[in-house]
Order: sequence, then C-alpha cells, then structure tokens
Amino acid sequence: MIPKVSLPKARKMITLEVRRRESLTPGFASLTLAGPALQDLVVAGGDQTVRLFFPREGQTALRMPTASNEAWMAQVLLMPKSVRPYVRNMTIRRARPAEDEVDIEFALHGDSPMSSWVRRVRPGDRAGIFDMGTTYRPPEQAQWQLLVGDETALPAVLAILDQAPPSLTAEVYLEVATRADVRDVVSPPGVRIHWFSRDDAADDRPGAVVLAAVRRAAMPPGRVYAWVAGESRLATSVRRHLVDDRGVPKPDISFAGYWRHGWSAPG
Ligand SMILES: Cc1cc2nc3c(=O)[nH]c(=O)nc-3n(C[C@H](O)[C@H](O)[C@H](O)COP(=O)(O)OP(=O)(O)OC[C@H]3O[C@@H](n4cnc5c(N)ncnc54)[C@H](O)[C@@H]3O)c2cc1C
Repeated sequence: MIPKVSLPKARKMITLEVRRRESLTPGFASLTLAGPALQDLVVAGGDQTVRLFFPREGQTALRMPTASNEAWMAQVLLMPKSVRPYVRNMTIRRARPAEDEVDIEFALHGDSPMSSWVRRVRPGDRAGIFDMGTTYRPPEQAQWQLLVGDETALPAVLAILDQAPPSLTAEVYLEVATRADVRDVVSPPGVRIHWFSRDDAADDRPGAVVLAAVRRAAMPPGRVYAWVAGESRLATSVRRHLVDDRGVPKPDISFAGYWRHGWSAPG
C-alpha cells in the first residue's frame, strides 16, 4: 500500500524574500524565493508541496503564523483580515539549497489572488512557505508510470521528470491553456510526453481535453504506477477510469484534486 502523503519528520514556518521573477510562457511565471531560513527546509524532491503565504493587496508586511504544526491554520483564521495573508498550495519546482533558493512556477489565470500577487510582486517582497510533503511515491515493482495533469500540475510533473532515473518508462499526459504554454522538456528516452491545449477544444473546462485523451489512449502492458493531479474532476475521473476500465489497483494510483472549478482555495 502506498502511503498517500509522505510528510517530513520536522518542519518549520519559513519566511523568505522574492529574489527574481521570470515570465516562462504566456500562462506561466516563475518566482525565486530565497533566504537563509531555507536551511530549515528538508528538500524531498518529487512533487514536494508547500503552503505559500503571501500578502493581500494593500498589506505592506507579511504576517506569518508561528505554529510549526497544523495549528497554523487556526492562527491564520484568527488574524484580522487587515493583516491575514493569503495561503495557497504550490509545488517546489526546483530547490538549490547551496544558494538558499527555491523556484515556484505559477499557472496564471485571470485576476485571482495568486495571479495578481505574482504580477505585482517585486524583488525584496516577503513570502512564506510551510512544507506539506510529497505524494509521488512509485512502488519498486511498477514497470512503467502514467503521469497526468493540467497546468497546475505541470510544475510537479516537470520536477518529477527532472529527477527521474534514466531507466524510467512513462507516458505523460499534460494539458495547458494554449499551445504557447507547451515547453521543451528534457527527459529519459523511455518517456513519451503528450501535450494538449484548450485552444480549439469543444469542451474548454480545464482537464476535459486531457481526460478524453487518457480515456482513448493505448497504454503499455505491465504494472503501472499512476500519478494524477489537477482540477478535481480530472483527478477523480482519471482514477475512476483506470480502476473501472483498465483494472489498475487503487493502491497503485496517487491522485490529487489541486483546485476545484468555480471554488476559491480556502485561506
Ligand atoms: C498539492 C498542490 C500543489 C499545487 N501546485 C501548484 C503549482 O505549483 N503551481 C500552480 O500554479 N498551482 C498549483 N496548485 C494549484 C493552486 O493551488 C490552485 O490553482 C489555487 O486555487 C490557485 O489560487 P488562486 O488564488 O489563483 O485562485 P483561487 O482564489 O483559489 O480561485 C479563484 C477562482 O479561480 C479558479 N481557479 C483556481 N485555479 C485555477 C487555474 N489554475 N485555472 C483556472 N481557474 C482556476 C477557482 O476555481 C476559482 O473560481 C497546487 C495545488 C495543490 C493542492
């Protein structure tokens, strides 16, 4: 049985500053967060996730919770809204512990709290992180891997592929908003990446195009480990398809609803 989440034994609230911002493609920007407090982050690799704390518009300072356990959430909710930060889940795309730096990649959409902050943030502004562990946990017996995600899962998939062993065999299904968000990816020779965009999609609800592609795909034989993330209906529908139509045992699937269409993340 694969444990759903692997959490670090010790973790701390970490306050950093924004060192750089880079525009990657029309739909993606990267922020480099840095500072000596990063020494407190245990870099786990894979799809390591953090809670990212950032100020609301108009706030001049970042107020961080102090509890280094799940009590942080109550602390945040008890703060008056005038000082309460926003909190969103993000993936560590790259960590450079020797330089006290991590990169986070943001799928920008509209004027949401996260997208607006990424557009207005300046070098020197503060942001905080709290380690939430990893869910990518392939069993040794898996003969190949299936990785499926929408744009919010792209940073995690790219991080997984960056660190993949040269022997990895994988089918990777990725959906992004537009063709212009498709990137060149360096990966082991046994990895096939299938890109999809919503440019001409009849159903432009995020996740629908890649879900249809996975449903009709010819898959390799042998035991698979599947990792699926993105809009909540994408994650649950791919899992249901793998279990019901392809006979994949549930424990061989890691799946996560990263966001829910029409619903704002709490915090
Ligand atoms: C474990 C985990 C790791 C994640 N890693 C990343 C990451 O590395 N990079 C990343 O960009 N996202 C990542 N996400 C997803 C991200 O946390 C959500 O998309 C989050 O809701 C974004 O916050 P927001 O302020 O933009 O929008 P919210 O305030 O949460 O939502 C506002 C509105 O926008 C909609 N919405 C939210 N996200 C999107 C989207 N991507 N496209 C279109 N509409 C959307 C909501 O349904 C809502 O209607 C991750 C989520 C999880 C759970």
